[in-house]
Amino acid sequence: MKYVLVTGGVVSGLGKGVTASSIGLLLKACGLRVTSIKIDPYLNTDAGTMSPFEHGEVFVLDDGGEVDLDLGNYERFLDIKLTQDNNITTGKIYQSVIDKERKGVYLGKTVQVVPHITDAIQEWIERVAMVPVDGKEGPADVCVIELGGTIGDIESMPFIEALGQFSYRVGLGNFCLIHVSLVPVINVVGEQKTKPTQHSVRGLRGLGLTPNILACRSSKELDENVKLKLSQFCHVLAENIVTLCDVPNIWHIPLLLRDQKAHESILKVLNLQGIAREPDLHEWTFRTKLCDMLHNPVRIAMVGKYTGLSDSYLSVLKALLHASVACHRKLIVEWVAAGDLEDVTAKKAPDVYKAAWNLLKGADGVLVPGGFGDRGVQGKILAAKYARENRVPFLGICLGMQIAVIEFARSVLGLHDANSTEFDPETSNPCVLFMPEGSKTHMGGTMRLGSRRTYFKVPDCKSAKLYGNVSFVDERHRHRYEVNPDMISQFENAGLSFVGRDETGRRMEIVELLGHPYFVGVQFHPEFKSRPGKPSALFLGLIAAACGQLEVFLQNYGHGSKLLPNGINNRKSTVKVYQNGDGFKSCNGSLNGVHSNGNGVHSNGNGNGVHSNGNGVHF
Ligand code: GLN
Repeated sequence: MKYVLVTGGVVSGLGKGVTASSIGLLLKACGLRVTSIKIDPYLNTDAGTMSPFEHGEVFVLDDGGEVDLDLGNYERFLDIKLTQDNNITTGKIYQSVIDKERKGVYLGKTVQVVPHITDAIQEWIERVAMVPVDGKEGPADVCVIELGGTIGDIESMPFIEALGQFSYRVGLGNFCLIHVSLVPVINVVGEQKTKPTQHSVRGLRGLGLTPNILACRSSKELDENVKLKLSQFCHVLAENIVTLCDVPNIWHIPLLLRDQKAHESILKVLNLQGIAREPDLHEWTFRTKLCDMLHNPVRIAMVGKYTGLSDSYLSVLKALLHASVACHRKLIVEWVAAGDLEDVTAKKAPDVYKAAWNLLKGADGVLVPGGFGDRGVQGKILAAKYARENRVPFLGICLGMQIAVIEFARSVLGLHDANSTEFDPETSNPCVLFMPEGSKTHMGGTMRLGSRRTYFKVPDCKSAKLYGNVSFVDERHRHRYEVNPDMISQFENAGLSFVGRDETGRRMEIVELLGHPYFVGVQFHPEFKSRPGKPSALFLGLIAAACGQLEVFLQNYGHGSKLLPNGINNRKSTVKVYQNGDGFKSCNGSLNGVHSNGNGVHSNGNGNGVHSNGNGVHF
């Protein structure tokens, strides 16, 4: 096993996660099998209790792990499935050491940070790196380890110490350290300043780690003399210094690294030159360029609670992006704060209310994502009602599905106090209620988490077709409440069809409104399994419907074809028309009419991983 460690210096938010994922992708393109580990030096054992508003979304894995959103980047870029052990936190490490101490494993010794914590970290890394994550047998060739935070943080010290020991333990030729740093450009003279990087490398060396490669964030390409200076002061070969300059979308980063031959430097350090091949990034390059060129927009209103920090819905945004690119449309996300749609806002802030409704009404499709707590619920209900009544394509995810059901119960079934017991425990029409999988009395650990199977009960429905006419799908869950199974016949008689259910038939997983162009709700989170080249089926359905192309789409793919959602790019070989880095030979709407052309992806400026507002990057 070979290890690539990615650390960060100077400031946080340099895009270390995307850089680490891109390095993994590049090595994978060289024919290597890659896994990854993310180290988060905070004390929380996992990300489950962390506020999405502060920390970005909680990413959910197949095994039910609630982890840092960077693991989502790894899964998407490398097309792998990680486990909760691939996310190490200080909390997890200390818990494991304290558990052992309580069991008397340390035989009366004083339990200390060095060696007990540092040993536990190294053992954890070695153990987890061996677990295959790409569906193949046997361990991967390379494990990319990303150390969260910035060199010098107090809480990452035990990890730095452990990784210093680890590099020594695995030996020369098996460990490559990439330090991501910042080279600011001072505006007055336009000079690229190396001092912050020099300082952070000195800090790293002082802690016993020597970088092999420097990846420098800078607004423009590093000048040759700047590289030489960095090389001299940081003791890193000039050819091992790469620039991460601003790019229109994050898919460019692996290409940027490839163009600067970062893979050659890494392979040399790891003694893998004889084994790896030249990187094959044809499909990736095609998609990246396509994304930059798109200009025909598709507008999706995201009606959520945390519209201030788009990282709160990162995977949903990525899934929308994957689907939009597959449909050759430029994604425009209109952020609508659910509360702004409510009547109280009409009274308190009429302008805000009007603006929110204008955004919603101007959208081609509406998405209500998952959430907890009752803030904004009424606004989400109004958005679902609007989409249902006006035949606007709608996708409701988890809470988004639950509110769509509540709205239907109230407006169509006439059950005016219908509600979820999450919001009104006393409602006389509990159409969504608490359905723990295990104990009904023990409240702890009652969340239904991770991968569960959904069986299609109605084979002829839109979602089954979109999934490629399979009989079941496995998707990831994170919820406590579910649609009341005792009210299903009432709903179905009125046209709300529960087309996907669990194996018992008691848990509702997918709901579709009959006679509507696209009104789908899912209890699971399909966004977590969407990939750039394999968009999630239901997101694809939303975007295709929003572009007015769903019918054509279903006709072409609805006959037992397993091509959707992941065969799109292969079907008519759009990938193959790409020519050697300098444009497209032809790009003639491979997606059965769901084509267009255009330019980039952006949102209405709330700053998120998906948008590009003309000059910037944001990775
Ligand atoms: N709060 C709802 C529940 O627990 C929905 C959760 C979610 O959207 N992830 O069921």
